[in-house]
Amino acid sequence: MSKDKQFVSEITPQGEDFSRWYIDVIKKAELMDYSPVRGCIVFRPDGFEIWEHIKDAMDVRFRETGHRNAYFPMFIPESFFQKEKEHVEGFNPELPWVTEAGGEKLEERLAIRPTSETMIGHMYSKWIQSYRDLPVLINQWANVVRWEKRTLPFLRTSEFLWQEGHTAHETEEEAREETMKMLEVYREVIQDVLAIPVVVGEKTPSERFAGAVNTYSLEAMMRDGRAVQAGTSHYLGTKFSVAFDIKYLSRDNALEYVHTTSWGTSTRLIGALIMVHGDDRGLALPPKVAPTQVIMIPIGPPKTRDVVLARTDELYAELKKAGVRVKVDDRSDVSPGWKFNEYEMRGVPVRLELGPRDMENGVCVLVSRISGEKKVVQQSDLVEEINAMLAQVQQEMYERAKSFMQDNFYSVDTLDEMKALMEEKRGFTIAGWCGSTECEDKVKEVTGATSRNIPFKPSEEKSICLCCGQPAKHTVVFARAY
Ligand code: AMP
Repeated sequence: MSKDKQFVSEITPQGEDFSRWYIDVIKKAELMDYSPVRGCIVFRPDGFEIWEHIKDAMDVRFRETGHRNAYFPMFIPESFFQKEKEHVEGFNPELPWVTEAGGEKLEERLAIRPTSETMIGHMYSKWIQSYRDLPVLINQWANVVRWEKRTLPFLRTSEFLWQEGHTAHETEEEAREETMKMLEVYREVIQDVLAIPVVVGEKTPSERFAGAVNTYSLEAMMRDGRAVQAGTSHYLGTKFSVAFDIKYLSRDNALEYVHTTSWGTSTRLIGALIMVHGDDRGLALPPKVAPTQVIMIPIGPPKTRDVVLARTDELYAELKKAGVRVKVDDRSDVSPGWKFNEYEMRGVPVRLELGPRDMENGVCVLVSRISGEKKVVQQSDLVEEINAMLAQVQQEMYERAKSFMQDNFYSVDTLDEMKALMEEKRGFTIAGWCGSTECEDKVKEVTGATSRNIPFKPSEEKSICLCCGQPAKHTVVFARAY
């Protein structure tokens, strides 16, 4: 049976086959489905709503830091790609081309954007004349296409949704400040909203974005110990302004090139969210991005049903009014036990049980998805109690993910040590690196781990390169990655 036809009845345990677990969960929880086009997925409503909550959390912060949204076309003339050498070399293998439209062969092929530096560079050269036009702080929410060889739903797809920020500045200092500011915005959203701890640092030259002077990244640890690059921020120097002739008349009346940045996060974050928090029962969603935060389940025999349902409706209305994303499952043809499992599998953070005796006592029962904790609360305090439990679940999820990351972070001194570690248990390793590409490549070849980044705040400083034994220039985090 082909995998897209398969109905998922049981979720494979994580310990048995983590990749299978992931696919089982996202299909069973109806977050996505495969599409007829290779590497492209359909975002079903729950999957898409998670993205909408991530988007809202990011967008508010982009605006607060002075950015505005705009939209640029998805088709990019081939000649644009030829203008920046490194950029074209990096992206050429992944570009899909439109060669014909309206029944006619096009005079110039059009690429479907893999990222928009070239199109935006072209437009900025028209918009920027003087220092008075700077800075330009624009973000775009869009879809992009990179024809990936290896794909995995959400984490690496051929078409994906993302945001890409593109800014232009008078000075290098200002552009570098922007690069760091947006990296910090990402860190805040990923940690505070997605409850995912990250290692923040600079990419090594071989892992840089094609055309960047410096690339910075946030790396998250999945529950199988592998890494996911959760976001990137690039300082592009004057590479794109030289290529696209983005010049401005400076305060000293000289023609200068602008310094640009770009930064992006994508629907990959949904994949990371699932792999960081999920367990053998299914999804576990942090309340801040969960499409349903509270599921209300009325219980009890048919003769008390009307009383329980009437009160359920009142409490539902109160929660709804207070802004809680709440749903009621009052179906009588499925048992409460079945419903409990179903909403745990879907990752709903809090379950609210209402029974006939609770009605008499003016109470109800809250159950946390993450800890299983049960709490009997007064119906009169329901809104406060729910908000408190949602905040607690959010916090516990972050703490749990953080402890997991700490428990699976290893300090290594030699290639053999890293090889053994990668074979036995996976996880992140911190090691010294001399700075040579040969040593970086050898680590990958021997251990399967790639350099994730040079962390800003390493747990320790290493002095010897794990590969050649020469003095280390950097302390690097290595891990197998998605
Ligand atoms: P980049 O423009 O390469 O720096 O990527 C920007 C963001 O998009 C990063 O957070 C990447 O992790 C993410 N990303 C890159 N390629 C893909 C892909 N094929 N599918 C989903 N997300 C991606």
